[in-house]
Amino acid sequence: MEKIKILIFVVLSGVFLLQETPARNPAANGLKELPVKNFCVVIDPGHGGKDGGAVGNKGTQEKNVVLDIASMLAKVLVDNAGRNYKVVLTRAEDKFIALEDRITFANQAEGDIFISIHANASESRNDNGFEVYYNSLATDDALTNVARRENAGAAERKDPQPTDSMFVLWELAQNEFQKESMNFADAIQAGVETAVSKPGENGKKYLMRNRGVKQAGFAVLRGVRMPAVLVETSYLSNENDENNLRSPEFKEKMVEGLFEAIEKIAGKINRRQDGLK
Ligand SMILES: [Zn+2]
Repeated sequence: MEKIKILIFVVLSGVFLLQETPARNPAANGLKELPVKNFCVVIDPGHGGKDGGAVGNKGTQEKNVVLDIASMLAKVLVDNAGRNYKVVLTRAEDKFIALEDRITFANQAEGDIFISIHANASESRNDNGFEVYYNSLATDDALTNVARRENAGAAERKDPQPTDSMFVLWELAQNEFQKESMNFADAIQAGVETAVSKPGENGKKYLMRNRGVKQAGFAVLRGVRMPAVLVETSYLSNENDENNLRSPEFKEKMVEGLFEAIEKIAGKINRRQDGLK
């Protein structure tokens, strides 16, 4: 019975349209069309609509910053001359979307990887930096303050709530991808650190503390059937970090780092799919 309920929930949720960008078509460039494997990246800009997420002292809203970064990343992936990326955004505008729907979108798109993009906030204005999470399979102890805040969107839904057993099934699915999620998180941490530490135009240097890779119980990461990470880009509650997130150049650097990490993990996953190590 529980399984039937879950199926009904998935089918009902599936009527929302995914916002896709088309994969590049080699034939359009006059090249002979070869069977090209797509690598599908699901990008999940956090929050949206009535859920603004964190807000900085200068009024910067998390929902807008993360949509900027997500859109820039989507463009870099689709425009790249190498791999054939298919990009799916869980939202491409300022719109509220429940966490459960984001999960359903990602799974129906059969994404190869999932990246949720957020900005952090803390009561202490000294807290700063960039961190990357992958899912913890533990439950209670994994509910850090950050995860609690980011999970809040899951309770906003009025239609059927996922049952506990649904979360259990999701967790089992995610277990399979734990190692690749960890590798992806490591690649992002390294990629973004390298990209951001390069001076910008006019030699501008961006200070960004690297808080490293962590595990926590994020609802959105539990449900997706693919390697998945959640990136906390920086703290909007910190003055330097908020200024960084307001800078188009800083965001470009962050996107460059995310792109490098995706390239790396896409290579690994494609090799695994081909049965190579
Ligand atoms: Zn958030």
